[in-house]
Amino acid sequence: MEKQPAPERFSDLNLSPETMKGLNNAKYYRLTDVQLQAIPPALEGKDVVGCAKTGSGKTLAFIVPLLERLQSRVSVEDGSLGAIVLSPTRELALQIFETLNKVGKYHHMSAGLITGGKDHKQEAERIGMMNILIATPGRLLQHLSQVSDLRCDNVEMLVLDEADRILDMGFKKDVDAILQYLPTDRQTLLFSATQTRSVKDLARLSLRRHVPIWANGSS
Ligand code: ADP
Ligand code: MG
Repeated sequence: MEKQPAPERFSDLNLSPETMKGLNNAKYYRLTDVQLQAIPPALEGKDVVGCAKTGSGKTLAFIVPLLERLQSRVSVEDGSLGAIVLSPTRELALQIFETLNKVGKYHHMSAGLITGGKDHKQEAERIGMMNILIATPGRLLQHLSQVSDLRCDNVEMLVLDEADRILDMGFKKDVDAILQYLPTDRQTLLFSATQTRSVKDLARLSLRRHVPIWANGSS
């Protein structure tokens, strides 16, 4: 069988007009290596582990599939939670949030940031209506383990971003606990700059049979 030519541009991927408009507005045209390898299987609903060095474009490698997979399943009106993105730090979570808002601008979905720093009660009131949550593990678990409006039974996708740093920061237990709240048939995408033993263990425990991706010669 002849191999399909690899998609080089976002316009080769059959994305929704909303996502294409967001990408074009942000001047993202050509896929980076990790995006090229991770986005097509993720769009098909497969679990993906992507290891690629810092600066290689891992954020869009999960934001694009996230928007595409969620767009027909959740909306601002139904207010159901469709995806959770876990990030090791507040600063990184904020960067993801900003990229998501920029690229997802034309979609009809809501996104919230849960990283602490704000009043806990105020945060808890807002998150019950969000379609997408970007969170640090400790703070998300705090909300989940308390009586709150946060319902996870419709979560279609979990993203573990910068998984090596999540583990370095001692969040393994919190991530394990969060997994217990999520449907087992969800899709999981895991991204990391390095491929350590503990990242592999986390992938084994949190993902189904997945597509492994090593881009840009990362270790
Ligand atoms: P990583 O998470 O792998 O460290 P980021 O997702 O933060 O990398 O992306 C690094 C930089 O590359 C960001 O400034 C981002 O805007 C830019 N970038 C990502 N993907 C593309 C792309 N397809 N085209 C142009 N610039 C991109
Ligand atoms: Mg990153």
